[in-house]
Amino acid sequence: MKRKLVFATNNIHKLREIKEIMPEDIEVLSLADIDCHADIAETAETLEGNALIKARYVYDHYGLDCFADDTGLEVDALDGAPGVHTARYAGEEQNTEANTDKLLAKMKKKSDRSARFRTVIALIEKGVTHLFSGTVEGYITTERRGTQGFGYDPVFSPEDTGLTFAEMGEEKKNQISHRARAVKKLIDYLKNQQQ
Ligand code: IMP
Repeated sequence: MKRKLVFATNNIHKLREIKEIMPEDIEVLSLADIDCHADIAETAETLEGNALIKARYVYDHYGLDCFADDTGLEVDALDGAPGVHTARYAGEEQNTEANTDKLLAKMKKKSDRSARFRTVIALIEKGVTHLFSGTVEGYITTERRGTQGFGYDPVFSPEDTGLTFAEMGEEKKNQISHRARAVKKLIDYLKNQQQ
């Protein structure tokens, strides 16, 4: 019988991505698959804390092993902001265009444009917590470039690429992205367990 592992998300893109690379004997379930429709409040002040809140909620209420992710964009000239507030930078409505406009405005006169995306994955397995993280270093551009991807992709350029995430396309982005790197660590951990 396949081992069941819940991914505490309803984001179909993330779900599809992870199902493709999971070892065959692990069945990944979404929140909808386990009939969980709770709006889990992400109230922690760190990415680790928020990922843990989501994974812990599922483990405590459903008794199933679970992992959850949280991502932040950390800009050096803004003392690490928007960081844990990345999704809601310009307000509770989580509007991508408004978030990007606010970032570009805050960066208008900044010469240091270095930044990084950081993803944290929290896995709770038989009650025990494991954390995995992935980072990609880069720069905030002065204007939007490219039409692919989502979120802050048009204004984030990974170092040594000369392109924004929105210009490089999904395949190339998925080779170097913060989330891909964190997911790879999770998968390596799960695969090693099975040997
Ligand atoms: P989440 O934790 O994946 O929900 O992401 C939090 C925030 O970071 C949201 O505003 C996303 O749009 C943004 N974000 C996460 N990953 C990426 C990415 O790969 N590119 C651009 N923005 C991202």
